[in-house]
Amino acid sequence: MTRKIWFVGAGPGDPELLTIKARSLIEKADAILFAGSLVPLALTQWSKEGCVIHDSKGMALEEMTNWLIEQAQPHKTVIRLQTGDPSLYGALIEMVQPIDKAGIEVEIVPGISSAMASAAAAVESLTLPEVTQTVIITRVAGRTPMPEGESLQELAAHHSTLCLFLSITLLHKVCKELIECGWLEDAPVVVVQKASWGDAEKIVRGTLRTIKKQCQAEKISSQAMIIVSPTLGARHWDSLKKSKLYDEHFSHSFRKAIKE
Ligand code: SAH
Repeated sequence: MTRKIWFVGAGPGDPELLTIKARSLIEKADAILFAGSLVPLALTQWSKEGCVIHDSKGMALEEMTNWLIEQAQPHKTVIRLQTGDPSLYGALIEMVQPIDKAGIEVEIVPGISSAMASAAAAVESLTLPEVTQTVIITRVAGRTPMPEGESLQELAAHHSTLCLFLSITLLHKVCKELIECGWLEDAPVVVVQKASWGDAEKIVRGTLRTIKKQCQAEKISSQAMIIVSPTLGARHWDSLKKSKLYDEHFSHSFRKAIKE
């Protein structure tokens, strides 16, 4: 009989932003290990009676994988519930390797990343025609160093959208480096803390010059996404280059242009 461990993306926090697949796995689960620092306990509200629910907040990686392996018995549904999407900054492969070694199957359920939830909270588009068509998901070096060629300055040279995870405590460094590599001091920045967490959600808009002080004033020092992008604030622009896909002069496989 196969044994399997599911790595399930829990989304950014709002229980309604779980996928249907994630929710039905939670309903079926016999054991759930959740990242309590970022995943609200509310997400386990659909678990059945007798489900073993454990917060991984205080656990080291090896303890977590040992716990999951121990719980993974035939006919049991075992879930590692991860914040956002498991493929981003989730120590996923570090956990999968020992599980592979134990001969247990692994399956991943994607989730809504906090980058997307932050853009949604702020009513921003991360791409805009003829402004930027590229989104860079990154972080600045903290205890984890950045690989060669991925310094913020090298990535920022593209002047595309930057979504910075795990970097809010280094916001001063982010702003300084972007200004040093040619971004204007007035370039817009949005910081979203606890995107989708209802009343706990905070959205701070500013510029590379002002945002640090604004976040200090709002006491934002964790669980926040920094978005720096030439698209920010486009909702209020007078002139926009429109997407060709919806242009009435443009034909595609689902629609004929009304005039060429
Ligand atoms: N896999 C997750 C990211 C985990 S790393 C995802 O796809 O979202 C943790 C970092 O994600 C935090 O430091 C913060 O930068 C960001 N983050 C997680 N949840 C968030 C939320 N609800 N609002 C804003 N940022 C969030």
